Amino acid sequence: MSEIDCTRLVELLWAYLDGEADETLCQDLQVHMAECLPCRQHAEFERRLREVIQYKCRGERAPEPLRLELVRLLSGLS
Ligand SMILES: [Zn+2]
Repeated sequence: MSEIDCTRLVELLWAYLDGEADETLCQDLQVHMAECLPCRQHAEFERRLREVIQYKCRGERAPEPLRLELVRLLSGLS
């Protein structure tokens, strides 16, 4: 049985998204997310946030719609 709970998932999420978590751990996280809506939403939010950050880090200026999307995502957290 998986040792992953919501707190552990948050701790491991960035490694998971970075592809640094090993295969077993990825599976455990995916199993937890499949059963846990808040964690699934949290993971989706972090994934999208990273896409925005990576886009900005390419040295291009983020277009206004992207900035507004980020604000929308962040405000959707509460
Ligand atoms: Zn959870």
